[in-house]
Order: sequence, then structure tokens, then C-alpha cells
Amino acid sequence: MSNLQTEDQKVFDAIEKEKRRQVEGLELIPSENYVSGPVLECLGSVLTNKYSEGYSGKRYYGGCENVDTVETLAIERAKSLFNAEHVNVQPLSGAPANIAVYSAVLKEHDTVIGMDLSHGGHLTHGHPVTWMAKLFNFPRYKTKKDTGEIDYEEMEELAIKHNPKLLLVGYSAYSRDIDYERVQAIADKVGAITMADIAHIAGLIAAGEMNNPVPIFDIVTTTTHKTLRGPRGGMIMCKEKYAKKIDKAVFPGLQGGPHENNIAAKAVAFLEDSKPEYKQYALQVKKNAKQMQKKFKEKGYEIMFKGTENHLLLIDVTNKGITGSQAQEALDDAGITLNKNMIPDDQRSPMDPSGIRLGTPAITTRGMKEAEMDKIVDWIDRVITNIDDHELHKTIKEEVKEMCLNFPVPGIKI
Ligand code: PLP
Repeated sequence: MSNLQTEDQKVFDAIEKEKRRQVEGLELIPSENYVSGPVLECLGSVLTNKYSEGYSGKRYYGGCENVDTVETLAIERAKSLFNAEHVNVQPLSGAPANIAVYSAVLKEHDTVIGMDLSHGGHLTHGHPVTWMAKLFNFPRYKTKKDTGEIDYEEMEELAIKHNPKLLLVGYSAYSRDIDYERVQAIADKVGAITMADIAHIAGLIAAGEMNNPVPIFDIVTTTTHKTLRGPRGGMIMCKEKYAKKIDKAVFPGLQGGPHENNIAAKAVAFLEDSKPEYKQYALQVKKNAKQMQKKFKEKGYEIMFKGTENHLLLIDVTNKGITGSQAQEALDDAGITLNKNMIPDDQRSPMDPSGIRLGTPAITTRGMKEAEMDKIVDWIDRVITNIDDHELHKTIKEEVKEMCLNFPVPGIKI
């Protein structure tokens, strides 16, 4: 980045520091990952210069032959990864993708049944602070305390009672798999459209490590930057029947020119996701999460939803005498990044909730395996059980750095 350094030292310095933070620390936020060098190259490519409103072969601008190639590749690769009938790769991110679906299939005051936020749902699934919550009704189902699974009976009762237009699954903090056939059967009973937001788990689905809703559900949205290991962005997959409505909702309904540098990066990530090495990666992501679960349980931590079947763990830390924010802050000091999170029916506030959420996608991309998971859980436990011992946090930060430097981050040299 010598050009940037010459032009703008301040921005250059901030990026260099961020590179160092990403290389020397442990990234456990489950929605984050490290993209490959080729994906980064697409993001910084000349495609960022190009306007291309419309879709491949039907653009409102000239000179679109190369971006048409790129966008078509992204679409075809996504179709084959997920077994999708129709794909739109233009949504700028996960939230815009969800909003585009709502605007495609709902009218004002329609009902959408989704998961209670404290049980793992996302803001865009009807949180009262969002604009969507003002437009649509969002009755919510929860998870079951005894099994940790989605309460499908409650989902069905709500569906019969509220007659929803849309039945929504897919979460930000839920660690179990989803029975899509069962949800589809409930939707069929009441004539609802099914939507899955697989933002977190798309990579595990693409690799065949989790159930795939795409051949079953009407509409599936995802981000491309989490387990899929692509650029920050969104994508919508749907049955052919909804293709026109979805495309019109994205453009011209909500967005202007697509970000073709980003779409090229999506195409490259999807190619990477189709390789045998990626399947190995996805398997290891799950193995690492299971190993962490085992170690946390041994140390007396309470894992929500009765454990993990994907890449993440939601843990109640209050039995250790601290809150989620205290844990997050102290772990930050020790070079370990994760986030505070609500636990189901949390009695504490979202700004200082009872839990922490952590995941294995980024550390697995670095090549870390079960032995490293054991070390990481030991460090987290030492910080949590010595929350005010800043000297210990500093020592752990050095140990974390030493281990991390043995596991290079793709695409970053410092
Ligand atoms: N959907 C789910 C399930 C998510 O977890 C997230 C983000 O974490 C989003 C949507 C929103 O994605 P973005 O932040 O890219 O808008």
C-alpha cells in the first residue's frame, strides 16, 4: 500500500494498526473471518470505478461487458454451491438483503413470525428499534428450555393464531441446526412464505456440514462475509417463482448501482468455497466449537441451547460472578476479541447482558485446531476468574500473541 502511505499517512497508519491487531490477537467474534488474498485483490480492483445499474445483459450503462462476466460468475457459482434456482448477488449487506425480501413480498401491517431477539434472532427480524418493526407485525417464538431447540410447537401455534405472510428462521446467536422441513410444513398449513436468514451458517451449509434450506424454502438470505469467508456483502436466493419480485425489490426498489468490486470478490469466495480444502475447513470449524464446548463445560460454564452444532457458543457468565460486558472488556485487554450477548430471556440490559458469544470461523481459517482451542479456553477462564488482575491480562496478551504469530492470517503480512 505504498501509494496510500504517500497520499494519506493517517489512514495508512490506522490500517497498519488494524492489520497488527488482526494478526496478533485472537478473533472469536462468530460473525467475523479472514478473507483470502485474491478476495482482497478484487475489493481493491478497478471494478470499484464502474457503474452498472440493472442486471447482466440488461444494464442502464454502457461498458458493462466485464462486470457482466463477473456478476454472472458469482450467480452461477452461488447457484451450484447452494443448489439454488435463482440468485441475486447485489444486496450491499445482510440487513439490506432482508429488507429487500420484506419489500418484495410484504405489504404494510403484514405479519412476520420470527425468533425472539434474546433467543438468537437478528435486529432485522423485527426489533422494535428498526423501521421494519413500524411497518410489520412481528410475533415471536422462542427456544425450549429443556432441549435448547427452537420451540416448533410454539411456532405452529403462533402461525395458526396470526396467519403470517412470512415465516422466518435463521439467527445470530443460536447454536443448533434447524429442521427446515418441519418449518415448511407449518408454513404450508397457513399458506405462509418461508424465509431463512442463513447469514451466520451459510459457509457450513455450502460445505454440507449443516442442513440446507435452499432447496426447501421459498427465499433464503445470507451475508457473504461470515462463515462463507467472502467480502462484506449480502445475497438472496429464491425459487424461480419469486425471482422477478426479488430482483425488482433490490434494484430499482432499494439500491442503485451494484458494487461490482464486491461482487467479483463474492465470485472468487464462492469458487474457494467449492474446493475440498474449504470442506475440510468447515468441518474443523465445527470440531473446534465442540472442543471449546467440552473445555468450557469442564470448567463449569453454562452453555446456552444445550450446546453447539455449528460455529458458535453462547455462554452465560453470571455464575462466575461477572457480566458479559465485564468479560468482553477484560478479554479485550488480553488480546481476545469476542462480544457480550443477551442470553434467552435475559433479565439484564442489552448493554450489560449476562452472556458472551464466541465462535471459531476466524481462528480456524488461521489453521488452529483442538489443541489451540484448549489453550484459548484456559486463557478465557483465567481472565474471567481474575477479572481485575490487569497484570495477568497483560501476560496473557503476550502468550496469545506468541501463539497467534505461529498461525498466519491469509492475505496479511506485517
Ligand atoms: N442476519 C443475521 C442472522 C445476522 O447475524 C446479521 C449480522 O450479523 C445480519 C443479518 C446483518 O448483516 P449485515 O451486518 O451485513 O447487514
